Amino acid sequence: LVVLKNVNKHFGALHVLQDIDLTIRRGEVVVVIGPSGSGKSTLCRAINRLEAIDSGEIAIDGRPLPAEGRELAALRADVGMVFQSFNLFAHKTVLQNVTLGQIKVRKKDKKEAEDRARALLERVGVTTQADKYPAQLSGGQQQRVAIARALAMEPKVMLFDEPTSALDPEMINEVLEVMQQLARDGMTMVVVTHEMGFARSAANRVVFMSDGRIVEETTPDEFFTNPRSDRAKDFLSKIL
Ligand code: ATP
Ligand code: MG
Repeated sequence: LVVLKNVNKHFGALHVLQDIDLTIRRGEVVVVIGPSGSGKSTLCRAINRLEAIDSGEIAIDGRPLPAEGRELAALRADVGMVFQSFNLFAHKTVLQNVTLGQIKVRKKDKKEAEDRARALLERVGVTTQADKYPAQLSGGQQQRVAIARALAMEPKVMLFDEPTSALDPEMINEVLEVMQQLARDGMTMVVVTHEMGFARSAANRVVFMSDGRIVEETTPDEFFTNPRSDRAKDFLSKIL
């Protein structure tokens, strides 16, 4: 569903993505882990074309990423993204946050968009908050609304970039549970996270990045019990 071939990206002299080859199949959950600065966020942003690449190819559903215009907006709708900071529209209610893209990009009428929004808010467990503004919600609730907003676009794949790392500990699980459910429902997901419990239980594959390269790509079992590279061993010894 998502194919990256020989992708390279520089920030000035910094070679932040180096010869990245990665294929994400439909329904697969791929967890990306690695030290700070290894290029995990840049990889996500490249898949969503928030960041242009210097060379190589990225295709979604067999189509190369469009560079601009209406096709780019459609791509962004197909590739849902949830960030560390919740990025909700502060001056819109929760319900409006979840209907806006459906109306503007997916061209749904208001009623249809609201029905879908309410169903999604129920799915992520924030039905009672529909008419509030983001600032009136807890971090965990905001992040669940952000997930609902991305899902409202009927994405083909969801990218999560450290979705729980800005949350207080007691709110982490409620967000991870929504993500677990999404994984069980068959959503194709790329998840950058330091939540190793989630990686173990939800991931089909773990991709370990270091210095802009994919150093290991394997099953969670194999990765956690028998990491092959020294860099992965070193990383695991620090976080587990
Ligand atoms: P973290 O775990 O801290 O989120 P990461 O693996 O997500 O790290 P990236 O955010 O992808 O890492 O950054 C990779 C490298 O690229 C870092 O050295 C970062 O400083 C650099 N970088 C990221 N964005 C830019 C930018 N817009 N301009 C210049 N350098 C950047
Ligand atoms: Mg990052």
